[in-house]
Amino acid sequence: MAKQEDQFKKVLSHAKEYGYVFQSSEIYDGLSAVYDYAQNGVELKKNIRDYWWKAMVQMHENIVGIDAAILMHPTTWKASGHVDAFNDPLIDNKDSKKRYRADVLVEDFREKINEKINKDITKAKKRFGDAFNEEEFISTNPNVLRRQKQMDEITVELTRVQEENDLEGFRNLILDLGIVCPVSGSKNWTEVKQFNLMFGTQIGASAENSTQVYLRPETAQGIFVNFLNVQKTGRMKIPFGIAQTGKAFRNEIVARQFIFRMREFEQMEMQFFVKPGTQKEWYEAWKQTRLKWHLSLGMGAENYRFHDHDKLAHYADAAADIEFNFPFGFKELEGIHSRTDFDLSQHEEYSGKKLQYFDHTENKSYVPYVVETSIGLDRMFLAVFSKSLVEEELENGTTRTVLKLPAVLAPYKAAILPLVKKDGLPEVARKIMDELKWDFNVFYDEKDAVGKRYRRQDAAGTPFCITVDHDSLEDDSVTIRHRDTMEQKRVKISDLKAIIKAEVDVKKWLQKM
Ligand code: ATP
Repeated sequence: MAKQEDQFKKVLSHAKEYGYVFQSSEIYDGLSAVYDYAQNGVELKKNIRDYWWKAMVQMHENIVGIDAAILMHPTTWKASGHVDAFNDPLIDNKDSKKRYRADVLVEDFREKINEKINKDITKAKKRFGDAFNEEEFISTNPNVLRRQKQMDEITVELTRVQEENDLEGFRNLILDLGIVCPVSGSKNWTEVKQFNLMFGTQIGASAENSTQVYLRPETAQGIFVNFLNVQKTGRMKIPFGIAQTGKAFRNEIVARQFIFRMREFEQMEMQFFVKPGTQKEWYEAWKQTRLKWHLSLGMGAENYRFHDHDKLAHYADAAADIEFNFPFGFKELEGIHSRTDFDLSQHEEYSGKKLQYFDHTENKSYVPYVVETSIGLDRMFLAVFSKSLVEEELENGTTRTVLKLPAVLAPYKAAILPLVKKDGLPEVARKIMDELKWDFNVFYDEKDAVGKRYRRQDAAGTPFCITVDHDSLEDDSVTIRHRDTMEQKRVKISDLKAIIKAEVDVKKWLQKM
């Protein structure tokens, strides 16, 4: 655990030091759970968004994108259930005065038990070596069995209190489990209350004429209300998808863990409209497709797992999360939801307009079913950034900090470094820069010794360093150094473009899907 916390602290300070993420309005001591992306962060974020857009929209003939407004007609949120049904259960600790989501407290407690099981398994693995049979150990070891039973019991009760909206039961569950406040360490809890997470604001100048509107808490509804417009103008045939990336806002209560949970964040969502009755197949297919997208980035299959939901939201008939191994453990990175015809039917009812599709093969109209894939761009950023940050021991006994970002996502693809700031080397370096910048985002640096400049680029995540030296003036060649292997090669200046492209090209990465 201490190691995990250390790693997380490193992630936070590295993100700031290397111009990835700053706290919002830092000169005023910041605004809680709101962050700004800095000069490198904005490039990484854009590259993740582009990687998603390429895979989800441009590689599918039957998926198109939109960009809907953040402000929507207020009835949208009545229809979606966000005004009435989307309330989170909250509980306060009387000693620390801190407020928590009751379900998150219980889930975190359950996850701690899971971590203990994992520790038992790791220990046993070490003790038994090659003879270790994990399946047998899990199904027979008394400690593991006891812990698993406790986890199952918690899941059953958590599902019950959520489904029955039993707020007193929720509090009792927290008390029975002996859950303490992470800040005060006490069990002095208030009642559990419901709280709406939407940010409200007013449209219109005067108080009498103003209308209450909301900052959208999810991008999905912008897709649903445009369903028929897109289907008709794009002459889309079912099955087809509409995708969108954009800001969403939630007045989150448990706002810690850096950009994992923010009040203003960005989502990348795709709603796939299908014939009723086929939703299960599409749900399974999208689960697999989305997992493959993650795996294509090469951050290790062991860092992902599916978590099928115990409790389904009122609009869903199946739901799963893709969880990622963040520095604070496995947590939701993306949700895949089979949303039935709930949203479109609700919008039909509240708007009085038909939102149906005429199926020529069936010769009838119906409200399509929807399978949604929804990922937080900021969470994906945190996943990539935290997994890429490593400290490496070198053969000469020193260590180096490297940000091993997948090259396709790295903010800068190459840094161009004249060995010295004279003798015509900067001119050659600038010439290379002027040529490469048409194809790649490249960086120029002539300050400090070249070794120091290499380290700086390693830590910033740049896959290649290109060094111009005195020989370059004679042989039109440069030294290219690879971030991960530190291998250096002499290559022709005219070959640089092809060498870099071979590593950073989206096609190379997405073809792994
Ligand atoms: P959680 O259970 O963590 O609150 P959720 O189930 O409410 O998330 P969804 O409504 O399914 O999340 O949203 C889809 C995705 O949006 C999530 O998988 C996550 O990546 C992202 N997301 C949701 N809330 C936030 C937030 N406050 N900050 C950053 N990303 C978020």
